[in-house]
Amino acid sequence: MIVQLRQPADVLQKRQIISVLQNLGYTTQPVRTHAAEYIVCIGSAAIDIRRIGVLPGVGDVFRVSDTYKLVSRKWKTRTSVIRLGDEVSIGSGTPVMIAGPCSIEHEDQVRSIVSHLKQSGIRIMRGGAFKPRSSPYAFQGLGLNGLKLLYRTCKEQGIYVISEVMEIGQIDQMYDFVDIFQVGARNTQNFNLLKALGSVDKPVLLKRGISGSIDELLQSAEYIFSSGNEEIMLCERGIRSFENAYRNTFDINAIPLLKAKSHLPVIADPSHGIGIREHVPDIALAAIVAGADGVMYEVHEQPEEAASDGQQTLNFEESARMQLRAARLIQAMQDSL
Ligand code: PEP
Ligand code: MN
Repeated sequence: MIVQLRQPADVLQKRQIISVLQNLGYTTQPVRTHAAEYIVCIGSAAIDIRRIGVLPGVGDVFRVSDTYKLVSRKWKTRTSVIRLGDEVSIGSGTPVMIAGPCSIEHEDQVRSIVSHLKQSGIRIMRGGAFKPRSSPYAFQGLGLNGLKLLYRTCKEQGIYVISEVMEIGQIDQMYDFVDIFQVGARNTQNFNLLKALGSVDKPVLLKRGISGSIDELLQSAEYIFSSGNEEIMLCERGIRSFENAYRNTFDINAIPLLKAKSHLPVIADPSHGIGIREHVPDIALAAIVAGADGVMYEVHEQPEEAASDGQQTLNFEESARMQLRAARLIQAMQDSL
């Protein structure tokens, strides 16, 4: 159960509400986010929730019995919208594109991709500065200097930046140079990192773990929300399966399911999802049809020369063509409503 408090919450009323809930047998966990205050109640007391609703200081009460609560659609039936400035909103009905290289490499690379994004009308650029690589001998990313380079170039052009944070210590370093923090598939259950991102006042894109279930992804999102940050996007990026004909198995089922279970926007990552350049556009379009609120994909002027993930990275021509197909598809979907 979620008890949403009236704002600003009165300390005495809050104490009284908690004591009533505990007397009813609930374990209570107060949650204060950047946007609101809640008491999350764990337990299965069979009560008439109106008894709670009438208590002074209570704004609303919602019965949510899942292991994740604040990210559940059971209490917040409309999709949460993430806004960047006045012009970009994610989750408001029109799928948003996020594109960029797997890794930031050098200034010319960043500039050429930024101008491709400008031409395509894409407002958010991805680019890894701290890279989680399977091999310690593979390119590890340019680190903070790469992120600063990305951010500076993007800001000149009015483009927002998303980049991966791998550990708690990087949050403060990165804060001034990102608009969205990305949590990668290898860190989906790094609960200390998730809790630390709860105190950040910037959105977080949380990827599904390599072998992570839907429930695990939602519970990880709950860690961020219950630690204070409501601005979360979920990302389907493919899971590991018995199939080895492609890098990962993009789980298209996850998209409508996550949308049904949670109010958080859902982003598809077809690049890591299939890992084969020529098929990335089809998976991106399939994800849009399945209801994704956005698509994040890898693009590079010369994918063959990319420092990482070149095999799944679109060149500018492929990216522009995919944009066109996506725009037509989105229009057709909106016309048929
Ligand atoms: C990435 O986005 O470049 C990345 C490393 O993704 P994932 O965490 O999904 O493997
Ligand atoms: Mn990559």
